[in-house]
Amino acid sequence: MSADRSLQILLDELGRLPGIGPKSAQRIAYHLLEADAEEARRLAHAILQVKEQVHFCSRCFNYATADECDICTDSTRDTTRICVVGEPRDVSAIERTGSYHGLYHVLGGVISPMDKIGPDQLRIRELIGRLGAEDIQEVIIATNPNIEGETTASYLARTIKPLGVAVSRLASGLPVGGDLEYADELTLGRAIEARRTL
Ligand SMILES: [Zn+2]
Repeated sequence: MSADRSLQILLDELGRLPGIGPKSAQRIAYHLLEADAEEARRLAHAILQVKEQVHFCSRCFNYATADECDICTDSTRDTTRICVVGEPRDVSAIERTGSYHGLYHVLGGVISPMDKIGPDQLRIRELIGRLGAEDIQEVIIATNPNIEGETTASYLARTIKPLGVAVSRLASGLPVGGDLEYADELTLGRAIEARRTL
């Protein structure tokens, strides 16, 4: 394969990554060309390592390297509360606040009729299963404060309340239409502490 062709393949792959435009792809590609082989090997290894070793926790669907994630297996966590989020990155955002010590459940998305995502495409059945199997007293719904997040929150509240489990939602104060992962830690921490019962 020619040098041009092999560089082009790298540029194409880099360009597929989120947030990397053609200019950034070029900068990274030339950096890697000039870097020593060891640096390039470390990057390639790190990519393969997350793909091969990180999968979903069998209980909460957060990222894990064992059957269950570090939070599910942490015996100091409050096991009577589940915080429901859309994506694993939302778990990280809430963990950074230090304001929450319960368990999580990652839905793997939110209800979005436009994208043809309904409750059956999300891990809601698994959540209901946990409510039956674990001693859960409160479900805190922490989906993003946008239309899909609110739709998902009201669906969950309607489904869970009849089971006799308290359901709450993050307090307002988070930027409407925004993403939890971009909220600052103080605001997000306060929204968890001041959550309201649904
Ligand atoms: Zn877990």
